[in-house]
Amino acid sequence: MARVVITGGAGFLGSHLCKAFLDRDDTVVCVDNLVTGDRANIAPFAAHPGFRFLEHDISEPFSIAEPVDAVLNFASPASPPDYLALPIETLRVGSLGTTHALEIARTHGARFLTASTSEVYGDPLVHPQPESYWGHVNPVGPRSVYDEAKRFSEALTMAYHRTYGVDTRLVRIFNTYGPQMRAGDGRVVSNFIVQALQGQPITIYGDGSQTRSFCYVEDEVRGFLALLDSDGIHDPVNIGNPNEFTILELAKVVLEVVNSASELVYEPLPEDDPTQRKPDITRARELLGWEPVVQLREGVERTAAFFARQINL
Ligand code: UDP
Repeated sequence: MARVVITGGAGFLGSHLCKAFLDRDDTVVCVDNLVTGDRANIAPFAAHPGFRFLEHDISEPFSIAEPVDAVLNFASPASPPDYLALPIETLRVGSLGTTHALEIARTHGARFLTASTSEVYGDPLVHPQPESYWGHVNPVGPRSVYDEAKRFSEALTMAYHRTYGVDTRLVRIFNTYGPQMRAGDGRVVSNFIVQALQGQPITIYGDGSQTRSFCYVEDEVRGFLALLDSDGIHDPVNIGNPNEFTILELAKVVLEVVNSASELVYEPLPEDDPTQRKPDITRARELLGWEPVVQLREGVERTAAFFARQINL
């Protein structure tokens, strides 16, 4: 049995992680300031004897009274509309927040895993993206608040490993979707499903030819646990589904699954929107024996069922 601290534990990925640890009888301290997280995501665990919620902004220092075996650092706005609306908060949580989370791991002698992102590759010139690719990031564009915060958090994590010997892990997360996303999150899968369910127009940014590779949240979380439980993997590991789709292809799948007649409308492409993204998951396959199993149509079906329940509430 392990005692884990999950920053951002009330968010989309964080709340799935809370559940995964509680399901294997670990204890969880969930730390979240609820800026983009949602109390409803952790409500199912509130009465669980192994669960504690600490409402706190990790950009400010904090301590954990109980023993800690692992820290999972998942606190950050992660949807482009969120981090563009919260630019300073995003930079603070990636830098100061990660420092404070690393300090918890260092002082408790705990393992540390931090959530990095495919955004460290920027608008990639190498395709698909292996972990060895250093990226193509605009350091002063609007997305830089997220990209550079995450790049800094990777550098800081490696420095804590090299300087203090903290047992660190870096996971680069590619587009992930599933239940517990907010209906108003702003990311493409939730937008399209909610629009299709409500019979609203599907908003295609640009001409819809840009690509993403979408991983269902259950696969993603299984990858996080495999990385956390592995030994000696301090270099970054891509965890994502390598099946690549254009945004127009995604819209078609969503319309079919939801059986919706929503029309497509075209809106301007956000600044610095990556034109292509697809993980090279050779490292995860070889070192962790991990690969995703839920494919897009099935994942969209499960996610649409979740949003259908949300909207009817
Ligand atoms: N996108 C879109 N319509 C939407 C939301 C997003 O066409 O309603 C596009 C967006 O421009 C990007 C892709 O879908 O090319 C993925 O966007 P998302 O915000 O989900 O994540 P990103 O990969 O950009 O961080």
